[in-house]
Amino acid sequence: MTDRKVRVRFAPSPTGPLHMGGVRTALFNYLFAKKHGGDFILRIEDTDQTRYVPRAEDYIIESLNWCGLNPVEGPGIGGEFGPYRQSERKAMYKDYANQLIESGWAYYAFDTTDEIDVLRKNAEANKETFSYGIASRENLNNSLKLSAEEVTQKIEEGDNYVIRFKMPADEDVTEVDIIRGSVTFNTTKSLDDKVLFKSDGMPTYHLANVVDDHLMNISHVIRGEEWLPSMPLHILLYRAFGWEETKPQFAHLPLILKPVGKGKLSKRDGDKLGFPVFPLEWKDPQSGDVSKGYREEGYFPEAFINMLALLGWNPGTEEEFFSITDLTEIFSLERVVKSGSRFDPEKAKWFNKHYFQEKSVEELAELFKMVLAEKGVDSSGEKTTAVVTEIKERCEFVSELWEQSSYFYEAPKEYDAQTVKKRWKEDTPSKLSEIVLMFAAVEEWKSDSIKEAFSTFMNEKEWGFGMIMNPLRLSLVGGNMGPDLFVICEILGKEQTIQRINSAIKVINN
Ligand code: GLU
Repeated sequence: MTDRKVRVRFAPSPTGPLHMGGVRTALFNYLFAKKHGGDFILRIEDTDQTRYVPRAEDYIIESLNWCGLNPVEGPGIGGEFGPYRQSERKAMYKDYANQLIESGWAYYAFDTTDEIDVLRKNAEANKETFSYGIASRENLNNSLKLSAEEVTQKIEEGDNYVIRFKMPADEDVTEVDIIRGSVTFNTTKSLDDKVLFKSDGMPTYHLANVVDDHLMNISHVIRGEEWLPSMPLHILLYRAFGWEETKPQFAHLPLILKPVGKGKLSKRDGDKLGFPVFPLEWKDPQSGDVSKGYREEGYFPEAFINMLALLGWNPGTEEEFFSITDLTEIFSLERVVKSGSRFDPEKAKWFNKHYFQEKSVEELAELFKMVLAEKGVDSSGEKTTAVVTEIKERCEFVSELWEQSSYFYEAPKEYDAQTVKKRWKEDTPSKLSEIVLMFAAVEEWKSDSIKEAFSTFMNEKEWGFGMIMNPLRLSLVGGNMGPDLFVICEILGKEQTIQRINSAIKVINN
């Protein structure tokens, strides 16, 4: 690496919610910047007004925040290379487009959309594809064909025009991609004359992206594989502007593949298989449809990030658990693979389980208290910590804590019919009534002392343990689930334990 300061940017277009592949791009940019003591920048590429979706920008920023991928420059943050929203930089792009016209690297094209549609359809009818470029441009309505006077006249008369890049003919454009190695594109074979500046006065992605990367002093462009075909045009734009010396290095990240079958992971796969593809929940402003988010599904950002890091990057060891700090130390683009990585929703859960188990009981209890508060359940006192201690190991998500422990907070409303049938005998009520009396006399209401009192009592009575333990558990929790029975008694408290046994006697006997 040269001694140039590392400056990378995450440059999403606010056209909808950020896909998890987009978060991975942001993550790899962030890690690369941190690893090299560089800057991670957020730039919003909102030049395509037809695809602009309100609230998408806020969504992007909130997602990055949730993941802990905080940019040092960006909209709402500032920085010396701002503004960081391309719509706010609108005024400057025209000059750059003009510069290319003057140097002969670009031209005005006056063809209307309808005219181009006709050409496209005609080509299709001949089983060909129309492309505006080297082979066709000389016969089209543009400044390469028209005289200078005609062009000036058209512009003065207010004719709509776009500015197109004039692709040089038959040249092999070669560039080294950090991940893919040397990549070559032939201009005549694979590149058309892309629009750089649109009739609505806005630049296209290509122009704005290259101009901004240059002006923002970007050292490395790290982005998804879908942008690889744009790289030769971008390389030629750097040449056309005379910016080759400070041109960034490129790295195109591999695709994230569907869990099953071929192709890129899409929202539809998530809907079909029931996992989120977005970091946060997203409500479509038009249809009102709500898409799941990792955050709302109960994933920890650490788990989400750890899982994403391994989609396309490998540490070179068997290790799988990495905190973001670990990653900033060991990440390298050289260890990013070329081929697509398959996303496995089960693996995502597995990561969450790991981070869930890593959390302290106190932390989980705090999170659980929020769930309880939403349900209107009183979670004051020590009880919640005790509950979490008992059930933590059975869970992977905070949301499961309630499923596993609701009986600690709510007395059973019904009793599992099968257990009743099997375990509730004629003499169970009278035996349980004796247990109640014995419990009432226990002084220190701690699981150990309850157990001791219980065992002494049972030995005196010579009653079979199973015959009592099962109905007792049924009375307390409504079924045969839960941790150690005496621990349940302790957490419930003496009064509640006795009350539940008495209610079970009443309800089940009727
Ligand atoms: N605006 C592009 C996107 O939405 C950015 C691509 C790039 O990083 O150059 O992904």
